[in-house]
Amino acid sequence: MSQLLPVLTENWDVERSWTLEGYGPYAALDRALTLEQDAVIEEVKASGLRGRGGAGFSTGTKWGFLPPLGDLPRYLVVNADESEPGTCKDIPLLMASPHTLIEGIAISSYAIRSHSAFIYLRGEVVHVYRRLLAAVREAYAAGHLGKDIHGSGYDLDVIVHAGAGAYICGEETALLDSLEGRRGQPRLRPPFPAVAGLYACPTVVNNVESIAAVPAIIGHGPGWFDSLGTETSKGVGIFSLSGHVKEPGQYEAPLGITLRELIDFAGGMREGHTLKFWTPGGSSTPLFTAAELDVPLDFESVAKAGSMLGTRALQIFDDSVCVVRAVLRWTEFYEHESCGKCTPCREGTYWLKQVLARLEKGDGTAEDLDLLLDQCDNIAGKSFCALGDGATAPIISSVTLFRDEYIAHFEHGGCPFDREASVAWS
Ligand code: NAD
Ligand code: SF4
Repeated sequence: MSQLLPVLTENWDVERSWTLEGYGPYAALDRALTLEQDAVIEEVKASGLRGRGGAGFSTGTKWGFLPPLGDLPRYLVVNADESEPGTCKDIPLLMASPHTLIEGIAISSYAIRSHSAFIYLRGEVVHVYRRLLAAVREAYAAGHLGKDIHGSGYDLDVIVHAGAGAYICGEETALLDSLEGRRGQPRLRPPFPAVAGLYACPTVVNNVESIAAVPAIIGHGPGWFDSLGTETSKGVGIFSLSGHVKEPGQYEAPLGITLRELIDFAGGMREGHTLKFWTPGGSSTPLFTAAELDVPLDFESVAKAGSMLGTRALQIFDDSVCVVRAVLRWTEFYEHESCGKCTPCREGTYWLKQVLARLEKGDGTAEDLDLLLDQCDNIAGKSFCALGDGATAPIISSVTLFRDEYIAHFEHGGCPFDREASVAWS
């Protein structure tokens, strides 16, 4: 039986946890500054920390991709453009404990020999922007940022930048274009940002939660983080439960905990209903059902079961939900957020929406189901960035898992859930 283990969320219940007084003295930064930069990178690499933004790439390895130090400056960019439907871990973390991230930025920037770090924040969350700015100002005043940090001779500036509200700017290269003042659209990779990123300089782009984990890793020292989690998915992660559980919210636990255990921590499913389907990693991942309740939520086990751990955005849907309608809502989101750069995604998401809307209304046909899957086939793997693939994932898996429910829509001439509101359909 896995247990919850608050690490990044440890001080969230402390009074005024978002202030320096509620956070503490940046002790992990003190320790990091006594180490050689490469030793800090080695500790992060050895911890097994893998990117918490969705892809799960080894953080220490990514830092190690930076080319040898030359004339060009190096940058750290924190991706705080959290926008994936269901994903709600970075923004709560920034509201509750912005200093966890700022201390992580100071340690990480020191390790990669960067003197300028940027936080690219989702544009809509103005309240988070204000909180972050206040925390950065506090950190400067306390000597945790700026010149000669903690008397070490190391200098670092942190810039908080708010985006303009586009999901695609969470894609790391679109983010960099946006940060440079251009329209945010993905760049061709390679070169990866580690080689040519912000202003064509070597740049590390990491998710908020990845960088926020660094103070705990350095503070505890070698051998702690990698003692948690599973064989290849180390440490703790924040699992965001939303939807039809009694107590939705953020639950931090070692990777490898199961949804069954997390639902227990969240008070169970809402009264009188059973689990129908769920997303393990946000709306861009194939759906799971009750059959996967005991799959360990680590990168490998979730992939082996046919989906992706992604951002650990666990959206829980009970038997009152029409899967066709849920998938249509996500598809409307992707169609709206498609940046338009490549044809399969720009045109494809538009047509996915048309066909799905027809099916959901009860005006579709059996041929529409084949057409839908054919459209997905022309988008997945043929789009310029992961948005196109992500848009097709819930559609394909919902047709595979709930084909009868799609058929019922056109056989009954409408959504069965409209006639039997909130009653389980079978
Ligand atoms: P990716 O696997 O292509 O890359 C992961 C990271 O590793 C990137 O930073 C990339 O630069 C780096 N990398 C990979 N190979 C490299 C190499 N050879 N050299 C140097 N660096 C290398 O994944 P991605 O396209 O960046 O991200 C997709 C993920 O984003 C999806 O898994 C999805 O779950 C997630 N996502 C998250 C959100 C959110 O709101 N947090 C939204 C949408 C998608
Ligand atoms: Fe833009 Fe979609 Fe193509 Fe990505 S897949 S580049 S979001 S049009």
